Amino acid sequence: MLGSRIKQGRVVAGLSLRDVGLAVGLSAMAISKYERDVIKPSSETLLRLAKTFGVRTEYFFRQSAVELTEVEFRKHEKLSPQDEARALEDVRDRLERWIELESIVPASWPRTFALPKRLPAKVDSYDVVEAVADQVRAAWQLGTGPIGNLIDKMEEEGVKVILTPHDGGKKFDGLVAKSNGHTVIVVGQEWPGDRQRFTLAHELGHLVLHGRVAPDLDEERACNRFASAFLVPKGEAIRLLGASRSWLEPQELYMLKHEWGLSMNGWVYRAQDLAILTKAVAMRHWDFFASQKEGANSWREKEPGEPYPKECPRRFAQLVYRALAEDLIGESKAAELLALPLVELRARRRMDAPNATGCY
Ligand SMILES: [Zn+2]
Repeated sequence: MLGSRIKQGRVVAGLSLRDVGLAVGLSAMAISKYERDVIKPSSETLLRLAKTFGVRTEYFFRQSAVELTEVEFRKHEKLSPQDEARALEDVRDRLERWIELESIVPASWPRTFALPKRLPAKVDSYDVVEAVADQVRAAWQLGTGPIGNLIDKMEEEGVKVILTPHDGGKKFDGLVAKSNGHTVIVVGQEWPGDRQRFTLAHELGHLVLHGRVAPDLDEERACNRFASAFLVPKGEAIRLLGASRSWLEPQELYMLKHEWGLSMNGWVYRAQDLAILTKAVAMRHWDFFASQKEGANSWREKEPGEPYPKECPRRFAQLVYRALAEDLIGESKAAELLALPLVELRARRRMDAPNATGCY
């Protein structure tokens, strides 16, 4: 038990047995023996291990009950096995803290995600994907307008959203996983907000569409279509762009991006999907975007102007402070849950280092 926690801590920190041995002044073999529970580290060694991994010693004694299943990675290049292991260990660690917090604070929100009722059993066209996206919006009472903070909304619906810094140098966008009834969506922390939102909506697409997509429809493409339809419903896109266009101005796309949190490139795709642009006209946009530069990159890779603000989960940190206010937990437990040094937590409590986003 202790051994597997030591291993988890090491993997999340991205260290080899040898690195850890050097850092704490022991052999790699000794560390390996701790991890296999062959020998037990002294409390002094444990303290040094905690320091090396950047965790609190309580980390080693937390009950680890989290098993991740149905993991679906969204990535454009392959993550190395080490990066994948780090990302998954990080998710496990954060999920454990979530579950512990939920056992302390009384619930005032749905703890488990449920699919909207009366979804079609079979999704055999992109029109049906559009209809399903509308159904989810209706079930979540989102109306047809722009969705402000998508993470807040998903958390209200019982999805746990985790931002991870372990994105393998931006090779990984997101993943969806389940664990003992918890539904988790993980997003890379470093992406701009519009990219994070698309990933969140894409992963939501997997949750909603999985097992329904007809064999001749590609699930990845269906989830992309779901994501754009969820972010910008068809009727709104046609109202804003018109039913047929021969060119979309960059400034127009830039304003729409900031209003709806869908990238400029995403808007062109959306317009093509809805036949507002013909395929040939959409191609002219791609060629134009490829020819325009933002720094060293083309507009295909990096869009011009201000990036859309990053998304940030707030609920977890709010609940920690609520538990602290009601004396359900003490300061050291709060610091452990937030993975903050105690001094930092105290500074935030005194509002010396206020943090409105809750991102930590
Ligand atoms: Zn996917």
